Amino acid sequence: MTQFAFTPPPPPAIAIDGTEAVFPVRRIYCVGRNYAAHAREMGGDDRDPPFFFSKPADAVVNCPPGQTVAIAYPGATSDLHYEVELVAALASGGRDLTPEQGLAAVFGYAVGIDLTRRDLQNGFKAKGQPWDAAKGFDFSAPISPLVARTQSGPSGLGARIWLKCDGAIRQDSRLDSMIWSVGETIAQCSRLWTLATGDLIFTGTPEGVGPVLRSQTLEAGIDGIGTLALRIEG
Ligand code: MN
Repeated sequence: MTQFAFTPPPPPAIAIDGTEAVFPVRRIYCVGRNYAAHAREMGGDDRDPPFFFSKPADAVVNCPPGQTVAIAYPGATSDLHYEVELVAALASGGRDLTPEQGLAAVFGYAVGIDLTRRDLQNGFKAKGQPWDAAKGFDFSAPISPLVARTQSGPSGLGARIWLKCDGAIRQDSRLDSMIWSVGETIAQCSRLWTLATGDLIFTGTPEGVGPVLRSQTLEAGIDGIGTLALRIEG
């Protein structure tokens, strides 16, 4: 039996709707640009192939339904941005998956926010430096409970995805505006890494990203999947 030099921390885990069991998180992958209007607002081209970055697994913040979860405004930024995203959680994995195999690997879906230190990201982009500190910081992946998959895709391809900041709608799109489908995204990701049970994939954000200030509240949702509420403390 392995004897660890110290007790390893328990794996990060997220809630699953309707059960006491939780979903242990192995890795978090994120897609850079997956909605044409957002790709354009970030100065890109909607024909670019998808690209990926990651967050540490313990960046997840569980956001139970009906509760507003508070997190501290992160350090090292004065331009914290929200990005609401559909999150796919994997029940199985593999490499070089087809889009059909990728979709079949999905355990369930959740609503997530890809919190971003935009000022750092813009600085890194300008210098050609890695994005890790702009994207993969503590508490940067708030997430709703997972809804177990009951069909081959997220419930209804036209499902509305939205985000409000202090009650004002800031992002409002539909999942069928994605450039790359969930299955295609998982397939592309599996060319770069061997995917496995417990992986989360943030599938990109629609247009309308912007700053959230200290003491403001974010609410986000996807029809048929859930909602979450998050308060950014001063
Ligand atoms: Mn994002």
